Amino acid sequence: MWSTLELLDSRQKRPNWKANGLMKKQWLHRLKHSAIALATILVLAAPLCAEDLQIAVTIDDLPIGPPGKHSLAQQQLITSQLLKVLVDHQVPAVGFVNESKLEDENGVVDPARVALLQQWLDADMELGNHGYDHLSLHRVDPELWMADIVKGEQQTRPLVEQAGGELRWFRHPFLHIGRSTEVQTKARTFLNGHGYRIAPVTIDNGEWMYGGAYADAYVAGDQSAMQILGDDYVRYMLEVVSYYQNQAELIVGQTIPQVLLIHAYALNAHYLDRLLTALQQDGAQWITLDQALEHPAYQRRVDGYTGAGGITWLHRWSITEKMDPSIYAGEPEVPDLEQLVQP
Ligand SMILES: [Zn+2]
Repeated sequence: MWSTLELLDSRQKRPNWKANGLMKKQWLHRLKHSAIALATILVLAAPLCAEDLQIAVTIDDLPIGPPGKHSLAQQQLITSQLLKVLVDHQVPAVGFVNESKLEDENGVVDPARVALLQQWLDADMELGNHGYDHLSLHRVDPELWMADIVKGEQQTRPLVEQAGGELRWFRHPFLHIGRSTEVQTKARTFLNGHGYRIAPVTIDNGEWMYGGAYADAYVAGDQSAMQILGDDYVRYMLEVVSYYQNQAELIVGQTIPQVLLIHAYALNAHYLDRLLTALQQDGAQWITLDQALEHPAYQRRVDGYTGAGGITWLHRWSITEKMDPSIYAGEPEVPDLEQLVQP
């Protein structure tokens, strides 16, 4: 058997979607060879009640991810398409901004990229802070990390306030909340002091691997690869949502309003419509992040996990309560995407 920390540390996010796909495969290979894990998968296979599916949608790495892939014209198109999908489905999303992505090659803020954020506000979406430069609290000094958060609100705060809103949400880059209780407490105190509420994630996933591969295909004009990746992305995400519904049952003892993490990718500009439609057919309702966090589950402590992984709040709660790690079994896997798109 593997230890909890061993299992969860292997899920630490890597910038390279190709490498991570392989790493995750190895991890899942180990899972599959555990009799306990297999038994748990069988027990968990029963579908859940559709009306319990309440989801707050959060979208990271605004204005557009992955960084440096897309021309300004593509960024404008992706933003318009993504926002149209959210508006059409009446999803009250929160988008989390990395202001370093607002700058041109010379490090000068580009008003055309700032205008992309204004589009989110004009579409009645909320904006939050995701750090200026997407720094990991696990890899840099906490003081530097905190300065990066302040630096990351220079453009966003005035935009939000001019629109009559309030900059109040923070999402940890990589979901890295600190490798010690001291750092976690320091960061939390800092965020509270600056008027931020931490945006947790309960449905984490490998969407970013699809998103990276899809961006490459999009830039290359490879329609065939885009379609293969998009189709498989929707399939995969439906399994992921079902998995985390089951995880909530196991960890909290009931279904909870979930917080989904996805990114501002071309992938979602083109395929989020299909994903949302399929989830709605399963009874999903879109709620605000505020509404989700009203559930008492979100009062649970998350400080029991100080490992290297960027893991969901569901798993942080379960580790803090010292639950048996075999309950994590059955997480859907992202296939080898390079192999998937081979003709
Ligand atoms: Zn991010």
